[in-house]
Amino acid sequence: MRETKMDDGHYFMTPEDMLELVDDNTIMVVPTFGQTFTGLYETVKPLSDALDTYEHDTGNSIDIHVDGASGAMLAPFCAPDIELWDFRLERVKSISTSGHKFGLSPLGVGWVVWRSKEDLPEGLVFHVNYLGGDMPTFALNFSRPAGQIISQYYNFLRLGFEGYQRIHSACYDVCEDLVKALNKFELFEFIFDGNRETGIPAISWRIKPGVELPFSLYDLADRLRTRGWLVPAYSLPTSGNEIVIQRILVKQGFTADLANLLIADFQRSLDFLNSHPTAQCTADDAQSFDHSGR
Ligand SMILES: *Cc1c(COP(=O)(O)O)cnc(C)c1O
Repeated sequence: MRETKMDDGHYFMTPEDMLELVDDNTIMVVPTFGQTFTGLYETVKPLSDALDTYEHDTGNSIDIHVDGASGAMLAPFCAPDIELWDFRLERVKSISTSGHKFGLSPLGVGWVVWRSKEDLPEGLVFHVNYLGGDMPTFALNFSRPAGQIISQYYNFLRLGFEGYQRIHSACYDVCEDLVKALNKFELFEFIFDGNRETGIPAISWRIKPGVELPFSLYDLADRLRTRGWLVPAYSLPTSGNEIVIQRILVKQGFTADLANLLIADFQRSLDFLNSHPTAQCTADDAQSFDHSGR
């Protein structure tokens, strides 16, 4: 697997980045439609167009899988006029998305949808006959609970298109409020401002170049954690210079009221850090949890 790197002012895979990495052995390109790091949509159509030209020049046809873990459950409701990113592009052969994120269901439900049956090799499908009849299955694990699936089904029926649209739109509205409020501190430069046409309901920022502070975003994350907020600071996967950013992800339940409380705690934390210049937190110190089990 080859990954594109980020850099100053360059936060998602462009056609140029992609063309540097593809060759005769490339079987697919995977844009992330709703990046975890920044919240930005990686635009699919420009990549698809560039692969058309690439095929014209080299004879190699390369397919696209869209990682729509978050975005594929957001854009259809909130960004209907966005540039094509789905099966309307011939090269898109499969799309994955998570029910347990913006499908609003409990952990454990998600899908990969293939463009056509032919795009999922028969060799990957497991046929079960010992339950009676033929049951074709393609999953990472076989026996699993059905609760989340039933819950997802209920949500689809109960909320409908309009319900999802309203819930997700409210999240984008909260992002707008947060951006306005955070802007007032005049300390942050937004990497992504939660615009519904260009990403998921998240905002991400770095300290404005040129602004000198006696603390880092790691310190701020650590300080906010004392008030119960998980607003992680982390470094981007760049090729060279380190870029540390911070992110807020807004989901159903994070209301405008909660956003106001969070902003008050930002103010409180910034005041504290400015008046108590202390030993600086490292990335390790600021971790709120650790997946390695240390
Ligand atoms: C969450 C996420 C995944 C993983 O999806 P799961 O449904 O949690 O397995 C993959 N890609 C992106 C961009 C994600 O945000």
